[in-house]
Amino acid sequence: MLKFQNVSKVYDDGFKAVDSISFEIPKGELLVLIGPSGSGKSTTMKMINRMVPHSSGTISINGKDTDSYVASELRRSIGYVIQQIGLFPHYTIEKNISIVPQLNGWSAEKTKARVMELMELVGLDPTIFAGRYPKELSGGQQQRVGIARALASDPEVILMDEPFSALDPLTREQLQGELISLHKKLNKTIIFVTHDMDEALKMGDRIAIMKDGKLLQLDTPEKLLHEP
Ligand code: ADP
Ligand code: ADP
Repeated sequence: MLKFQNVSKVYDDGFKAVDSISFEIPKGELLVLIGPSGSGKSTTMKMINRMVPHSSGTISINGKDTDSYVASELRRSIGYVIQQIGLFPHYTIEKNISIVPQLNGWSAEKTKARVMELMELVGLDPTIFAGRYPKELSGGQQQRVGIARALASDPEVILMDEPFSALDPLTREQLQGELISLHKKLNKTIIFVTHDMDEALKMGDRIAIMKDGKLLQLDTPEKLLHEP
């Protein structure tokens, strides 16, 4: 379970990007964070893995304060997928997904088996794609690699910051469906940022609405749609 208690972020220039937000995400939930540009969604995500340190309040994962983790350990226990996935262009797909298992000290055989399993999981045939380079893949395929890479260390929590927003509408719809199935299968806690309400309603077990650094509402899609 992921818990925010009165968490705020004031950047160095004095700007308060996140203003005392509190919420809990039970294990296995897919929570969508939605809100206009600049409302503090990315800052909220980055505070979870301490890419951005929070200014006050407490963030905990399964009861453990994120401040008590070693930063590298925390990053590895949290998968992160962004719009510009940043695959290493001179590494094959297999090598791109292998980075985290290798950092974790896994043997070559164990890493290879894991990478093949992950590629199957995200719908990329390893016999076709393992040896290819990122530029030889479509945007949707690259995003699948990004998801496989984020899953590589079997993280408790996966953060996805507008992962599909650079894709064409059809590919985007396909990946949304695939992520919903994958989420059901893996039972991971996922926080998914978007500014597209249709995507939020389709993907979210619950939806958190942010504006001006504040959490305005957090509810199921059904409740958001049916209660004014
Ligand atoms: P969102 O993801 O909802 O678009 P962000 O969390 O990226 O919002 O940004 C929230 C606000 O904080 C914005 O006004 C942004 O300009 C500001 N902000 C983000 N990063 C920094 C930073 N490093 N220094 C100062 N202000 C920042
Ligand atoms: P996003 O796509 O998440 O809204 P932005 O394009 O707003 O991201 O920001 C890109 C990067 O610039 C982020 O790392 C963010 O922290 C930083 N940033 C955003 N706004 C500011 C700001 N006002 N001052 C300094 N850095 C900022």
